[in-house]
Amino acid sequence: MEDIRVRIAPSPSGNLHVGTARTALFNYLFAKKNNGKFVLRIEDTDLERSNEAYTQNIFDSLKALGLNWDEGPDVGGNYGPYKQSERFDIYPKYAQMLVEKGYAYECFCTQEELEAEKEESMRNKTAHVYSGRCRNLTEEQKAQFRAEGRKPSIRFHVPKGKEIVFNDMVKGELKFKTDLIGDFVIMKSNGTPTYNFAVVIDDMLMKINHIIRGEDHISNTPKQILIYEALGAEVPTFGHLGMILAPDRSKLSKRHGATAVSEFVEKGYLTEALVNFVALLGWSPSDGNEIKTVDEIAQDFRIHEVSSSNSVFEYDKLNWMNGQYIKKLDLKVLAEKLKPYLTKYDLNELTEEQYLKMVEITREPLTLLSDITDDVPYFFGEYPEIDDEARAHIDSEIGQMVLKDVMSKIDGWDFNNLHQILEDFRTYFKEQGIKAKITMWAVRAAVTGRTRGADMCGIMEVLGKDKVKKRIQAVIK
Ligand code: GLU
Repeated sequence: MEDIRVRIAPSPSGNLHVGTARTALFNYLFAKKNNGKFVLRIEDTDLERSNEAYTQNIFDSLKALGLNWDEGPDVGGNYGPYKQSERFDIYPKYAQMLVEKGYAYECFCTQEELEAEKEESMRNKTAHVYSGRCRNLTEEQKAQFRAEGRKPSIRFHVPKGKEIVFNDMVKGELKFKTDLIGDFVIMKSNGTPTYNFAVVIDDMLMKINHIIRGEDHISNTPKQILIYEALGAEVPTFGHLGMILAPDRSKLSKRHGATAVSEFVEKGYLTEALVNFVALLGWSPSDGNEIKTVDEIAQDFRIHEVSSSNSVFEYDKLNWMNGQYIKKLDLKVLAEKLKPYLTKYDLNELTEEQYLKMVEITREPLTLLSDITDDVPYFFGEYPEIDDEARAHIDSEIGQMVLKDVMSKIDGWDFNNLHQILEDFRTYFKEQGIKAKITMWAVRAAVTGRTRGADMCGIMEVLGKDKVKKRIQAVIK
């Protein structure tokens, strides 16, 4: 069997979308599972909408997800260049070849004439397909148009009365009637190729034999098959993935939350969790265990089992998964990953050891890495900001009594043995009829300015005796 070659062909007109990431992932998984090659091609022929920053974002996002390509603009390969804008000289000769063989023809229609045709169809309430009026122009007519200064586009001559049938790897057998496909433009009058043409030429020359992409491209596939056939090239095997919908079943968009991979990263998602989650949009593990690395998924991946229906992007599930991944991270790795979310604090206030301890005692409730930002302000600065609830505890009669008692004993406390000390301390108050919870509320409120947070012994250990004393002293009346 020939070697499997697949590709992802994003257009750099925005940051890498999770939908494109899912398409990239499924291609990558298919390649890995079949010892094939995964190619990255940047489709930047729309020079107005494409930009370098987006191309870089696509590279960075795919890499962050662990979807490394075997061939591409940066790593090269035998079938380059891998940026469409560097391939402009390739397309005209294939278009010319199709014209010579009678599969395509020059079309001199102006924009106005085409608009008029469309309006005519609308008036007649018929589906619009190009009339084909330039299909049989004589050489004289063409010369006449040229003399008028008209520049031709090149249209593909779609044979009428045929049915295009192909076996989609995901959706099964699909059929399209050519009568519903108008002769479509393959080269614009400015000499640049249209998407349908460029994609076929590139896939053909790059020897791509399996094309996995979103079903939003399904109506392009019969056109592309016609081009392959006209070129005498082998038609690749197609697989069209269902779309990804928002929880409200509408198209996933910014108003639902993050949509670009880099946005998810900024918000505090781990790329390992994101890629795992994205795999589940259409694929299910055979053993029912959803938490898996990309390598594990690749072993279990079968494109024919991918769901042909749409998938819903459940942010809640992603959040849950992200939390699971955070829990499993090695402490030091997590501590490093959290740093970008702690830039508003002066981390130099803590030694490496104190910082690790802080992460160790605050990691438990994290769903997103960014949750850390609001969970740790009291580890920094001299005094914490005190919220209303904490203030009430501090100012209460019992609160003041507890805090004064701490101050009278704290010099003798060994901060390496706080568990036992605080236990004894609680018991002492319990004997006087004060609940342990209330005792500790006062201490927590004074030291952190809050009534909830990480383990109290851990917090005191990180802050050290001097700071704890200072903070308690400051609120005693
Ligand atoms: N550049 C196209 C897109 O981003 C590629 C489509 C295809 O895979 O053929 O949608």
